[in-house]
Amino acid sequence: MRIEFLGTADSAGIPVHNCKCEICNCYRQKGLINLSTNAFIKINDKIILLDCGIENISNIFDGKEIIAVLLTHFHSDHCLGLLRLRHSKQNITCFHPKDKEGFSDLFKHKHSITYIENKPFESFKIDELLITPISLIHSKNTNGYLIEYKNFKLAYLTDCAGIKFETIEFLKSKNIDLAFLDACYDERKIQGNHLNYLQASKLLDELEVKEGYLIHASHTTLEYIKNNKIVSKYKYINKGFFKEIK
Ligand SMILES: [Zn+2]
Ligand SMILES: [Zn+2]
Ligand SMILES: [Zn+2]
Repeated sequence: MRIEFLGTADSAGIPVHNCKCEICNCYRQKGLINLSTNAFIKINDKIILLDCGIENISNIFDGKEIIAVLLTHFHSDHCLGLLRLRHSKQNITCFHPKDKEGFSDLFKHKHSITYIENKPFESFKIDELLITPISLIHSKNTNGYLIEYKNFKLAYLTDCAGIKFETIEFLKSKNIDLAFLDACYDERKIQGNHLNYLQASKLLDELEVKEGYLIHASHTTLEYIKNNKIVSKYKYINKGFFKEIK
């Protein structure tokens, strides 16, 4: 199977509209755009989306079979793409955390999407994958996902301001091979709805992951890192990052 990122930025995306910071200018000059954090898994020629925040995701995967969406939460940068994907001619199951409102009129006009509410720690199978939703601390009910393929275990953990003790213990017991964790902020911000890169690095250490990466970066965080020549223990990844898992 393969995991690949379609975006790794925060909700603003990079470049931010009319922002003249060094990072946004650099992206503009190179013609680069990094949209909100969104990944996908390809297994046996089928697609499983990890979040669905990119508006034209239905076009990106036109002609491909999307079997499921593992939604972390109903913030627009993670579910905007469902507004168009719901008109698919194919039935798609969306697993999501408990949320009465959802986003926009998604629950009212479901079209091709079947919504299934997750129960933390209750695993389910999709194709050859075993998926376990877990709870993350954020401004809205949010799930991370532990994804097991054969003996390989990966964790997709966005958006996240922290993880409760029992969930940390659960993840540790799994011996995670590969983890992606929210590190939206730089070290000047120590409280909010996301982690900064120091907090995220500490948490990846605590989870004892074999390989860890930072995601959901904001342009100000990347600018701070660049200007202060900060070398963090775990690296931020960019759009296009992928891993093949045998
Ligand atoms: Zn987000
Ligand atoms: Zn900027
Ligand atoms: Zn969020």
